[in-house]
Amino acid sequence: MESFSKEAYQELFDAAPDAVIVADIRGKIKMVSSKVEQIFGYPKEELTGRDITFLVPDHFMRALSENILKSGILFDVKEMNRVQDLVARRKDGSEFPVEVSLRPIRIDGKHWITAAIRDVSEKKKMISELKNSLQALERKNRELEQFAYIASHDLQEPLHTINSFVQLLGQEYGGCLEEEAKKYLHFIEKAAGRMSALIHDLLEYSRLGQKAEMSEVDCEEVLQSTLQNIDSLIKSSGAKVEAGPLPHLWANKTMLILLFQNLISNAIKFGKKDVIPEIRIRAEEQKHFWEFAFEDNGIGIEEEQANKIFIIFQRLHSRAEYEGTGIGLAQCRKIVELHGGRIWVKSEAGRGSTFYFTIGKRHK
Ligand code: ADP
Repeated sequence: MESFSKEAYQELFDAAPDAVIVADIRGKIKMVSSKVEQIFGYPKEELTGRDITFLVPDHFMRALSENILKSGILFDVKEMNRVQDLVARRKDGSEFPVEVSLRPIRIDGKHWITAAIRDVSEKKKMISELKNSLQALERKNRELEQFAYIASHDLQEPLHTINSFVQLLGQEYGGCLEEEAKKYLHFIEKAAGRMSALIHDLLEYSRLGQKAEMSEVDCEEVLQSTLQNIDSLIKSSGAKVEAGPLPHLWANKTMLILLFQNLISNAIKFGKKDVIPEIRIRAEEQKHFWEFAFEDNGIGIEEEQANKIFIIFQRLHSRAEYEGTGIGLAQCRKIVELHGGRIWVKSEAGRGSTFYFTIGKRHK
């Protein structure tokens, strides 16, 4: 068989995207690619014949397994073909993180090792920046939730006082009040009641996920419990709820019931006038998660509004049209995200909506 010349091998190595070093099994460098010169700062001639450990900082070498060093065989067969994270040293003494993958080869009947080396400084930097941003975001989120919890908790007490005195005023002085004054009192009562509902929902929202126990949950059972909870709404609206086979999930059951309940009751609440609400639920298995769809024949949502509705307190309708606090879908999003999934809606005004969400197959 025709064999390649040394120059041809060199060209092949130089064409590789990674820096490539060929060494014998004791680690003595035979050949290096041009990329090696670039990332380590040594000319090829300075490397050939040297021990490959020359490119690794001493402190890192010392940390390597004693056994490997003692045996004189640097390359453990078990480590072959696996990408390893190592630290390398440039000619100027600076250190940088590398990914190295080793491969045994045979040339002219002799065993050699090729090491493909990739400088991962940029990658590592990006990962660590991303991690920092995520941690900062999580911290901010926690702070915000804590704030929402404390604020809503502390607001309850003065509101309770307002409610009690408005009631007392009505009961004890109602007889002496003029019609206009009674109307004002009624408005105060209504507003205080509404604020109570908002604070209650906000508290529930910020409590979501605290001590959430996960277990195997049968979604058919989740649906049955949901339908029982909103039985009177279903009966009074005449809504029809149809569901395909639903899976078992690793989830928090109470949260799933709340999720189903919010989606089904919204589908009924935002139904078209004089049309019986019909809700179709299906779950489709994907590789890593289940994708659920809750489809309704309701009033639908304008495309440009579709992203807003998952934000807390965002509503598209006045209270006169539809009752609500605007927390339901924010709750749904939080529940889905706590289960490692995402939620979105596809809809067209006047043509019904389909709410989709995903839940990972096993998210512990
Ligand atoms: P609420 O129901 O208290 O208004 P949500 O957070 O549950 O709050 O919903 C936010 C808004 O999204 C609703 O006010 C409504 O405008 C819109 N919406 C939610 N579900 C549907 C649906 N199935 N069909 C049409 N619009 C919907």
